Amino acid sequence: MSANDRSVKVRFAPSPTGRLHVGNIRTALFNWLFARHHDGQFLLRLDDTDSERSTDEFAQGIRDDLTWLGLTWDEEMRQSDRYVEYEKAVRHLTETGRLYPCYETSEELELKRRRQLARGRPPVYDRAALHMTDDQREEYEKQGRRPHWRFKLDHKRVVWKDLVRGEQSIDAASFSDPVMIRQGGGYLYTLPSVVDDIDFEITHVIRGEDHVANTAAQIQLFEALGAEPPQFGHHNLLVDANGEALSKRKGALSVAGLREGGLDPLAICSHAAAIGSSFPVEPRYSMEAIAAIFDFAKLSRAPARFDERELHHLNARYLHELDYSAVAGRLEEKGITGGEAFWLAVRGNIERFDDVGEWWQIVADEITPVIEDENFCEQASALLPAAPFDMDTWPDWTARVREETGAKGKALFMPLRKALTGRAHGPELKMLLPLMSRDKVVKRLSGERA
Ligand code: GLU
Repeated sequence: MSANDRSVKVRFAPSPTGRLHVGNIRTALFNWLFARHHDGQFLLRLDDTDSERSTDEFAQGIRDDLTWLGLTWDEEMRQSDRYVEYEKAVRHLTETGRLYPCYETSEELELKRRRQLARGRPPVYDRAALHMTDDQREEYEKQGRRPHWRFKLDHKRVVWKDLVRGEQSIDAASFSDPVMIRQGGGYLYTLPSVVDDIDFEITHVIRGEDHVANTAAQIQLFEALGAEPPQFGHHNLLVDANGEALSKRKGALSVAGLREGGLDPLAICSHAAAIGSSFPVEPRYSMEAIAAIFDFAKLSRAPARFDERELHHLNARYLHELDYSAVAGRLEEKGITGGEAFWLAVRGNIERFDDVGEWWQIVADEITPVIEDENFCEQASALLPAAPFDMDTWPDWTARVREETGAKGKALFMPLRKALTGRAHGPELKMLLPLMSRDKVVKRLSGERA
């Protein structure tokens, strides 16, 4: 059965050596959307062969980050449970002459590289270890040296049709035989990943462009292990405003940080799906709407520029049009009882959801009013319509105040806004006023804290 006939199965494979950061979001999202689009499966694979740096806390953090983003998975596995399978693959590759032990120290390798460069040659490993005699090997072992293991590449061109980059052709002879097992026995990521992709029947490997070179070796590994390679898609990577790569090490923004900063997951996913593609960066209100703009063909080959301000701006735009039904529960959690009228009044004036708290305080709690003109406010207070207030209260009231005082435009609205809210800017008073008690408005107009 070829990968084309099987139902789609993809995987997102973070290492639990840290939390997810903005660079990972697109990889996870693209995999998730691809699985969705093809009615396939999405596997979460924890690449935890680095036992010193991988922790259960980070693994849990990654699950929390994905869940919060809405990227739920159908199946989960971790590499540390699968050493028996990796050992089987190692035996097969060793027996078939594709995996070979090397004893060079890193200093010796570095020296070789420098010599090659000095002679104008590419610094490709010379495969000296393949010609090692048994005596030499014994001698090294006696000296206490332990081998690392390299995969013997087949020196031919590796070609594949990349879902994003189109036809790819890489000359395997231009690479050193990649190290699969470190001195001391630790697995590098390359081999376990292929063994897992085979055993878990992954049909499409969707990941960042930084893995393109690995793909050539991995395709040969699939073949050496008797499996048909999956299809590959390598998406562009994120760069910052200066065009520099965003990486974990550089302290790229974490998903947890964005969450704590009050951003909404759908705004983050809307942003992640559109940057670096020809789709406009716009708020989208469901994963279905985001899925609708997902198309590998629309991804740019150039890096995707990540601008945190753009993300914040998109988050604000997202909130400005967000339906009450999407936030009713969250407002309730904050003890905000203003219902839909409150949300519709303030959503246009917030940048982050948590900003609702300040407006709720202004509407329902106490503030110190700002009185610019006592007389004017006193006159306005006398003209205030009777309760209950509704959407007509503000236009009726201000029309009467204009008639009585002759004030218009800013001179009419600003003193009232400052008295009622303590601020010069904010939501439309027509919508805010019905949320306030008449008593509170009267007190504020007289300068009293209310
Ligand atoms: N753990 C690898 C990484 O995070 C997975 C790469 C892959 O998707 O094959 O880079």
